Amino acid sequence: MQPSAAPAASPAPGERWQEVLDNIPALEVLIETMSITAKFGGTSLADANQIRKVADIIKSDPRRRHIVLSAPGKRTSSDKKITDLLYLCHSLANQGLDIQTAFGPIKQRFLGIAEELGVDEMAGWLAEVELRIADGADVDWIASRGEYLNSRMVARFLGATFIDAASAIRMAADGRLRAAETYQLLAEALTGDGLFVVPGFYGADPSGHIRCFSRGGSDITGAIVARAAGDQVYENWTDVPGLLMADPRIVDNPRPIAEVTYREQRELSYMGATVLHDEAVFPVREAGIPINIRNTNDPSAPGTRIVTTRDSSRHAVAGIAGRVGFSNVYTDKALMNAELGYGRRMLEILEKRGITFEHAPTSIDTMSVIVRDEEIAGKEDLVLGDIENQLKPDRVEIDSDIALIATVGEGMSKKVGIAARLFGALGKSGVNILMINQGASEINIIVGVAASDYEKAVRAIYGEFVKPA
Ligand code: ASP
Repeated sequence: MQPSAAPAASPAPGERWQEVLDNIPALEVLIETMSITAKFGGTSLADANQIRKVADIIKSDPRRRHIVLSAPGKRTSSDKKITDLLYLCHSLANQGLDIQTAFGPIKQRFLGIAEELGVDEMAGWLAEVELRIADGADVDWIASRGEYLNSRMVARFLGATFIDAASAIRMAADGRLRAAETYQLLAEALTGDGLFVVPGFYGADPSGHIRCFSRGGSDITGAIVARAAGDQVYENWTDVPGLLMADPRIVDNPRPIAEVTYREQRELSYMGATVLHDEAVFPVREAGIPINIRNTNDPSAPGTRIVTTRDSSRHAVAGIAGRVGFSNVYTDKALMNAELGYGRRMLEILEKRGITFEHAPTSIDTMSVIVRDEEIAGKEDLVLGDIENQLKPDRVEIDSDIALIATVGEGMSKKVGIAARLFGALGKSGVNILMINQGASEINIIVGVAASDYEKAVRAIYGEFVKPA
């Protein structure tokens, strides 16, 4: 008979501690290799003083090693963004006009900042850019120079490695990101110790031509860098404290949102609560990398974290956002539910008139299609005529000046009574609800109200779900 193996003796408590201690160096290495992408927006880089704040933030956490920068933004509300001035340079050059009205202020701004930061090379870099603009450089090349010059300057100031996005971010000729290629190129470029600075907003197509993302696109670059480097968090440093539970122009001092899921953020941002470029979420969301919106002017505040999942048991509602400027194309017809193709033909009528739709809540015999006022403006009679002729409804009308308000929260679909509280709060404040739509994602309830009731409705919902801070 084969003797069975003796069961392994469990280690004595002292040995167990030794095992833990032996693993600590590995833990240290792990902590050292964890890194953060920190992207700073234009107002965080608007002058030398702001750039010094940025440098302090970077130095205060050694994990902040992958830095993505915008071009200098506005110092005051009446100031000009460098990117806007660069677009102006292009249009002046294109018309054969002198570019100095736009390039002069760019030069002055960069030279002033560089002098304060002690970066001597700026005059030479500017001269090269000026020459190429005069030589007829194309619009994306010119627009990208704000990020390029700023990042070279700040990299020099920080003693960091500058990586030109043109060499590491690959875009197709139509401007779309070639993701797999980009992640590989960037991961290679970001290998090694130390600090790296990557300019936001642009990349290059396979033939080396610079391509810009849409405006505000440095947020996208930040997400791409975080994803390529496999960073533990994507910090997006801006000039606001993060997302708020409601619009501060409507609700006094609304509560900041500490944590929100990617899905909730998307719903809130569609309704106008934007702090981030829409496309910036996708690269990090796919990899489950959280985004942390932070305020450069208040770096000790935790900001808003955008994450995959959150514990929604305490705050079923994440936020409330809304917009005015919608119309409701409403029809009712007895036995609509039994009529094959009614909904499709209704949407086709709008499609043929070049009108996109936002929501289409239906009941057995009614259908509402919510569209934007500006898309249907001037076409109301044509649409009404098409509907009368093709669908023969019992009633059709178009109501404009509608506001939509989304109450958003992951916990809402699982929590009994949320809808009742929402409608009750609106009822109590005398707001008439014109439309209700609980999105298929079940993380929001959208109500349509008259634009004149919009602010009152937002305050009523906020008061119902958010306890005073
Ligand atoms: N500088 C660019 C813009 O003004 C890109 C960015 O800042 O994200 O749109």
